[in-house]
Parts: sequence; structure tokens; C-alpha cells
Amino acid sequence: MTNVYNFCAGPAMLPVEVMKQAQQEFLNWQGCGSSVMEISHRSKPFVQLAEQAEQDLRDLLAIPDDYHVLFMHGGGRGQFAAVPLNLATQGQAADYLTTGSWSSAALTEANKYVVANEVAKARQIDGLWAVPEQSAWQVNNNAAYFHYCPNETVDGIELPDLPDVSAPIVADMSSCILSKPIDVSRYGLIYAGAQKNIGPSGLSVVIVKKDLLKGPQASTPAIFDYALQGKEGSMYNTPPTYAWYLAGLVFQWLKKQGGVNAMEAHNRAKAELLYQCIDDSDFYRNQVAKPYRSRMNVPFQLANPSLDAQFLKQAEQQGLTSLQGHRSVGGMRASIYNAMPLAGVQALTEFMREFERSMG
Ligand SMILES: *Cc1c(COP(=O)(O)O)cnc(C)c1O
Repeated sequence: MTNVYNFCAGPAMLPVEVMKQAQQEFLNWQGCGSSVMEISHRSKPFVQLAEQAEQDLRDLLAIPDDYHVLFMHGGGRGQFAAVPLNLATQGQAADYLTTGSWSSAALTEANKYVVANEVAKARQIDGLWAVPEQSAWQVNNNAAYFHYCPNETVDGIELPDLPDVSAPIVADMSSCILSKPIDVSRYGLIYAGAQKNIGPSGLSVVIVKKDLLKGPQASTPAIFDYALQGKEGSMYNTPPTYAWYLAGLVFQWLKKQGGVNAMEAHNRAKAELLYQCIDDSDFYRNQVAKPYRSRMNVPFQLANPSLDAQFLKQAEQQGLTSLQGHRSVGGMRASIYNAMPLAGVQALTEFMREFERSMG
């Protein structure tokens, strides 16, 4: 099979150019005779790579100097614990907006360390998922922080606006970081598991305002101590070096593409094409209210679910892979992160129209 478009939600496809460069220098990185994964994280060339990757990310998102940028272990879920441990004292309240499965899981984990208050949750109105208006949220005035997930990867629900709350905002951007410009100064903390829009799994990137770190809870594992990791340049212990290297290549690729402004236009064009295809037909449907539709993860159902298996099989034969929806939701899901070219979405929509015709 020559042209495969991989719509996996995560670990997701990476830019072809990045994979080619990694392949080319796999055995002999920068002429050192070893792979980048075989050298010390404290060696001068690796430290340079690490600093360059951080700088490129700072440039891409215009991250202010009073924020740490951390490259940590433990993926997205590791941060579900690290956030309450670092930003709140034991038993303190923290606000959680739950708009789908990831923010709900974050709330459950946080409850081990803080009193997590669910301010509101997404609900279905006339069969379409929507987020309650902010005026209906039960915000706690003593909350140490306000946590939400701007893009719910499983449910395909995206919040168009930043919540207007007084507590420092913590955002799980695992599936939308670097997909459009953001104003970092309006957040207290941003975190992202890398495997959707940054690089390989296992790495998580944390952007945190330094003055929020007043000392973690006493039981916090040292590797999850943001202040300590900030002081140690994310090298308190051996970081996931190969993942860090690949993330750095992705940041350079993003810069070459024109940065997050270019990504926003690219991602909007892909999402519009796919939603148009879904909306144009009664054969397919998406169950998220239009203002909350995700540009990154597009779940859709066939009106006749008994055709699901056939749809997936034929798609696979056309090189359109990993379109099965999350096991908790069913149906289909197309994840169309930064690395997915427009041609991939065009191929998908052509296939969807053809499949519908053939089922007549
Ligand atoms: C994938 C994902 C996670 C979990 O990431 P892991 O690295 O598997 O722990 C958390 N939040 C969101 C929004 C995700 O998409």
C-alpha cells in the first residue's frame, strides 16, 4: 500500500518530513557516530538540542519568560495528578469543567489530592452535545485553580472561548496544542501529552507560570515537582530523550510551515471540508452542536450502524486507517491533527461519498 492516511487519535501520525529526517540520522546523529538516543542527556550536544526545542516552542506559542517550559514523563494522565499536587494544598478546592471523557478522568484523579468541584458538565440537547453557558456554572470562589479540556479527543467537543474565571486556568491541551495561536499569559498552566500534536507518547509538555509554584504537597513524587524540574531544566532524572528530540524536529517543522497561524488556517480548511461532507448527507451525522465541534477530532456515525464494519474495511482498503471511533462512543472518528495533510481529508471525503453512493 503506498499512500496511507492514518486518522488515529493517538499516538497519531507525525509529519513525513520529520520521520524522514529522524530515519536519516537514526544511526549517526550530527556525525557523532551514535543515535541521539544513545548519548547522555547531560552531554553538550543533547543539552543544546533540549534548549533549542524549548526555545522553538517558546517562539511558536510566544511563551512569556515568567513561565517554565517542562519536558516531563508520564503523558497526559501523569499531569492529572501533578496539577493538583503542585497547585493546591491537600484538601483545598479546585474547579473542574467536565466536557467529555478526559476532563472527567482528570477530575477523578484530582479527587485523590484535592476536593475537585465539578462546575458544569457537557450535556445533550435535542441529541446534540453542548456545554452549558458560563452563567450556569457553579464556580467555587476559593478554588486553587480552574481545570478544563479545550478539546475533548474522544467526544469531539471543543470549547471556542477561554473561560472567564478568576482562578488560574489550567488547560489540558493534549489534543489541540499548537493547532492555533493562544495567549499563554491568560493561563496559569497548560499541559499536553505529546502523542497527538507534538511527537511520540510518554512525553508531556508543561507550560506553567512560575509564581503559581508555592511548593508541592509533601507526598509529591520528585519527578512530578514542577519547581524542581524547572530548576533542573527538566533533567532531575533522565528525560525521555528520543521523544524530546522528535518533538524538537516537529517544532522546527511547524516553524517552517509558518507557525501556529498557518496551522490554524490549515486545520480550519480540513475540518470545514469534513463537516461539510457529513452535513451534506443523511447517511452520516455528527452529534456535537456546531459551536462546540472539534477541529482536531471529528466523530461521526453512520445512520445505519450495521454498515460500520463494511465502512471501516473498505476505508482500510483505500489506505484510510484507524477510523474506528473510541470504544466508549462507537461509530467513526477522524483525527486530523497538524500533521494530517489536506489531501488526507480530501481522500476521506471522496471515499465517504463513494461509500454512500455504493450503498444506494
Ligand atoms: C490522550 C489524552 C490524554 C491522556 O494521555 P496519556 O498520555 O495516555 O496519559 C489526556 N488528555 C487528553 C485531552 C488526551 O487527548
